[in-house]
Amino acid sequence: MDLLIQDKVHDESRQGEALILEPVVKSNGRKLYIESYGCAMNFSDSEIVASILAEQGFETTSDFNNADVVFINTCSIRENAEVRVRNRLKEFAGAKFKNPGMVVGVLGCMAERLKAKFLEEEKLVDVVVGPDAYRDLPNLIEQVDGGQRAVNVLLSREETYADISPVRLNSNGINAFVSIMRGCDNMCSFCVVPFTRGRERSRDAQSIVAECTDLFNKGYREVTLLGQNVDSYKWSGPSLSPNPSPVERGLVEVLPTGENLGGVTEITTVNFANLLEMVALISPDLRVRFSTSHPKDITDEVLYTIAQYDNICNYIHLPVQSGNTRVLDIMNRTYTREWYINRIDAIRRIIPECAISTDVITGFCTETDEEHKDTVSMMDYVKYDFAYMFKYSERPGTLAAKRYADDIPEAVKQSRLQEIVAKQQQYSLYRMQARIGRVEKVLIEGFSKKSNNDYCGRSDQNAMVIFPVNEKYKPGEYVNVVVERTTSATLIGRIV
Ligand code: SAM
Ligand code: SF4
Repeated sequence: MDLLIQDKVHDESRQGEALILEPVVKSNGRKLYIESYGCAMNFSDSEIVASILAEQGFETTSDFNNADVVFINTCSIRENAEVRVRNRLKEFAGAKFKNPGMVVGVLGCMAERLKAKFLEEEKLVDVVVGPDAYRDLPNLIEQVDGGQRAVNVLLSREETYADISPVRLNSNGINAFVSIMRGCDNMCSFCVVPFTRGRERSRDAQSIVAECTDLFNKGYREVTLLGQNVDSYKWSGPSLSPNPSPVERGLVEVLPTGENLGGVTEITTVNFANLLEMVALISPDLRVRFSTSHPKDITDEVLYTIAQYDNICNYIHLPVQSGNTRVLDIMNRTYTREWYINRIDAIRRIIPECAISTDVITGFCTETDEEHKDTVSMMDYVKYDFAYMFKYSERPGTLAAKRYADDIPEAVKQSRLQEIVAKQQQYSLYRMQARIGRVEKVLIEGFSKKSNNDYCGRSDQNAMVIFPVNEKYKPGEYVNVVVERTTSATLIGRIV
């Protein structure tokens, strides 16, 4: 059992969701069905894929039985994520039997991990495409139309799809994910991501600011900047504008004279704190969130930037994985328990109101009961607002799979997981109860799932808030809500 406590970056309720777009201007008469699994980065990638194929005239459909092209954007992070995809492919087999011309494609991390082997293992699959090869999709579909099966799993050191503006029509028009980097260079020993998504690269800062500005102008009021390790974001390029703003000027490094960069005499280096500030300056009405921060890289500069701008949300997802230094060492996380505690203390000092969430893995190779207790005591120390908690799942090809035996019995992994899940429920409730009587600034996202008499939205700290509809206010607007009651996942109150 993987337990999910509410968060938007890996939203369990969206797993397998199909992407639907408005009709394209010049239809080619063919219909695309695309569904996505895994983290927000995959959902964001599906929007890029849909954008590339919309250019070719593909319309989207929500029913794979009517589709000419069926894509499944996959996740490999744990074995059960892959099992889910295999089962889903079985459901596509019937539709393909009825319509043999249907193109079935596997995209994303599982495609990258298994490459051409996928074509041998799953006979109904025609095309296998890794996360850096989406621009090649029109050619690959053409190859399949010509009677071949097609694979492109080349990883790139440059591709960031910076110039492709993703289509976002499944969204509520209020929150959007914006990828700021791709890949990961960290090589945590349990993790398949560096193999499936390639080397880390940062996207051009100007294109990020332009995309967020465009979203704001279209009515969006919250952007979540996405990367596997946002704190290592770094981009250098020509100075941002002829008349740089104070923020831009602060970022400019003057090149030594005599260097020839095609007439460019100044380059700008943008780190994550600078990027946060640039996005926050688009408008005080645009909320800025981000995920994921890495404990080894999160800097005080980032924390001070969050503290300085009201519209950068007071919420940090800081995955701990384990509370024990020996286990962290064999996980190759490159920080110790003490280092992690130091970062938590810095957050509490610089942003006292900050909510903190985490990821935890139980039953990693050789983890003893005593070492597990260090994870529990870390939870007692931090009292996280939310947590994603997982049993260790060995992934082929990772450093841990090569070096260490997956030697913790399933029942032990499970009982450790249950213990931390119970602990987290206690702390989620504790954090929520601390908000009772307080006034939260909430961005209205829409009606609550249960009733059209209630609105729902999130607080600055990312807690879901439910309150009676007041017709003076619409989704996309901010309201102040006094919290009257709470569950471990939701604050309940009324507009004041
Ligand atoms: N880049 C982020 C980071 O460093 O925390 C998260 C990436 S990963 C998509 C999300 C979470 O999945 C990880 O933080 C970890 O807790 C979990 N995870 C990754 N590999 C796993 C494995 N082999 N077994 C169980 N959980 C795993
Ligand atoms: Fe995986 Fe570690 Fe990279 Fe996160 S930082 S994606 S856990 S290798």
